[in-house]
Amino acid sequence: MCIDVGTRNLAWCIIDVREWDKHSNHLRGIREWGKVDLLANSVVCQGISKSGKECAKKARWISRIRNGKLIAPLQYVCGIHRSRNETVRKKYKEIPKRNTKTVSRRTLHNILLDWLEESKGWLLQSKYIYIELQLTRNPSMKIVSHILYTWFLMHTKKRYRSSKLVDVSFIGARYKLCKYVYEYLGIANSYNYKSLRKKDFRKKEAIRLSTLLVRKDKKWRRYYRSTTKKDDLADTLLMCLWQYIRLIT
Ligand SMILES: [Zn+2]
Repeated sequence: MCIDVGTRNLAWCIIDVREWDKHSNHLRGIREWGKVDLLANSVVCQGISKSGKECAKKARWISRIRNGKLIAPLQYVCGIHRSRNETVRKKYKEIPKRNTKTVSRRTLHNILLDWLEESKGWLLQSKYIYIELQLTRNPSMKIVSHILYTWFLMHTKKRYRSSKLVDVSFIGARYKLCKYVYEYLGIANSYNYKSLRKKDFRKKEAIRLSTLLVRKDKKWRRYYRSTTKKDDLADTLLMCLWQYIRLIT
């Protein structure tokens, strides 16, 4: 499993290397591939739709509070269930959007630890976990990467009984677009060392290579096509490939 560290886009890819087909430059055996927005507002609307079911759409409005009491009929509502009545509408205020700048570190770290606990069942199925080393100047990202590292270290099978995890380590980001990856894909002639020094080009290349890798896998090809922020997902997949290449060479 490889992890691309982020708060808005924490991405991962889990590969079963036993299923990798060395001779056909496309991947099989993607087990999990996805990302999570740790700052997403996950509160749902409490309104009831016309058919009598719970609305459960993402809530955008929250009831104001007076004297310790909610003054609107519901605590969380979407745009539709905020009511048409102007007086009632005013009883709601917009739920403030969380972003990396407004959320406190403490809150962010708690969200991350909650997510890890909730996802433990599938996260700890991997034998080896690689976390992309953060060379950024953003201290927040560095801290997040070390929380991930420590959490996994505490959940290796040596310390945590139901875990399959053998080890966790950091890996450098730059190797995922190295010459060997291009050679593996059979496109060594399009390896352009000079252009790869530019960040924008690297992003584009990561997406191009990932599209190439999943082209014969119906499920993941569809998933990848439909997703936004493709570069983070691409990074995790290419990191897996790079680790695999290191393993076999
Ligand atoms: Zn609603």
